Amino acid sequence: MIKKVEYLDLDRLAQDIVNGRELTDENLRELLCLTEEDEIQKLHYVARKVRDHFFGNKVFLYSFVYFSTHCKNNCAFCYYNRCNDIQRYRLDIEEIRNICRALKNESIHMVDLTMGEDPYFHNEPERFIDIVRTVKDETGLPIMISPGVLDDKTLIQLHENGADFLALYQETHDRELYRKLRVGQSFEERVHAREFAKMIGYCVEDGILTGVGNDIESTIKSLRGMQKNKPDMVRVMTFVPQEGTPLGEVSQESSLSELKIISILRLMFPDRLIPASLDLEGIDGMVHRLNAGANVVTSIIAANSSLEGVVNYDRNLEERDRDPKSVVDRLRTMGMEPASQADFKRIREKSTGKPVGIVGLPEVHA
Ligand code: SF4
Repeated sequence: MIKKVEYLDLDRLAQDIVNGRELTDENLRELLCLTEEDEIQKLHYVARKVRDHFFGNKVFLYSFVYFSTHCKNNCAFCYYNRCNDIQRYRLDIEEIRNICRALKNESIHMVDLTMGEDPYFHNEPERFIDIVRTVKDETGLPIMISPGVLDDKTLIQLHENGADFLALYQETHDRELYRKLRVGQSFEERVHAREFAKMIGYCVEDGILTGVGNDIESTIKSLRGMQKNKPDMVRVMTFVPQEGTPLGEVSQESSLSELKIISILRLMFPDRLIPASLDLEGIDGMVHRLNAGANVVTSIIAANSSLEGVVNYDRNLEERDRDPKSVVDRLRTMGMEPASQADFKRIREKSTGKPVGIVGLPEVHA
C-alpha cells in the first residue's frame, strides 16, 4: 500500500537530498502518487528550496532557433513527422546569421540550434557544421545542438567547431512505450549518441514526455533511465496532441503531472539544469515550472519572430511573449534574475571536468 508523504517527511527528505541522499524507487512511487493539492504544493516548495541551495535565485536563459522543420522520421507524437502534410521551412545561413545578430545584446546564456532529422543536413553534415561555426562566430555564446541522432564522427566535428551541449530526448526509457512513440527508431543508437557525446566533452540533455500512456511504473523506468546516463540537463514535457499525427486525437492531460515530475527531477538531480519551456503554456507556464523547481528558461525567441516551436502553444496567437525582455521582466517579479555567463561557465566546467573559455562572450545583462 502507498503511504501518504507527510509534510515533515518532505522537509526532511529535501534536507537529506542536499546532504547527498538519493531517492529510492519507493520514494519515487510515493511522490508520483501524490494527488492532494497541499501535498503537491509542499513538494514544489521543497524542490524550490533544494534548487535555491545550489543556484540561489539565478536562472539560465536559452534562445531557440528551430532552423529546419523537415524530418525523415515518423514519431507518433510529433507535428513534424514526415507523414504530416504541413508547411515546412529550412533557414539558410544568412537568415541564421541575422537571428544571431539580433541575439547579440540580449540576456541569453546559450543558443539552441534545433532541427528535425532533415536529410539535407544529415546526409551532408558539413552543412550543419557550417551553421554551428557561423553561430559561434556571430554570438560567441555556448551552443546547444538538437539535431536528432548523429554518428560519432559528426558529433566530434560539431564539438570541434563549437557545439557545447547535445540535447537528445529519449522521450521514454520504457522500451515498449518507446516503440510506440519513436516508431521505427533504434533505442540503443539514441542512448549511444548521448553517451558518446558525454564521453567526448559535450554536456548532454535527456528528456521525457508525460501524459502519453505512461503509468507510474513506466515513469519510474524513464526517471531511472535518464539517471543512468548522467545527464547535465533533464527535461519533462507534457504531451500535447498535434493535428494530423497518429496521437492527434488523444485527449490532453493538464500540466500537473509535468509540474510534479519537475519537482521530483529536482530532488533526483539537485544540482543539474532543469528547464521551464515557454513552448507549452507561454510565460505564465514558465512561472509554474520555475515554482516547481526548474532553473532554466528555454524556447526564448525574438519578439517579432515567426520561427516555430516544438509544441507551439502560440501557433495561432497574434501576440507572442517569448522574447528575452518579457522573460527577464517576469523573472524579476518572482524575485529571480538571469545568472551571469561566469555562473554558466562554472556549471559547464563542473559537468565536463575541464576548463571552458568565455573570453569575448557578451555578458548577460542583469
Ligand atoms: S520528434 Fe524529432 S525525430 Fe521525431 S518526427 Fe519530430 S522532428 Fe522528427
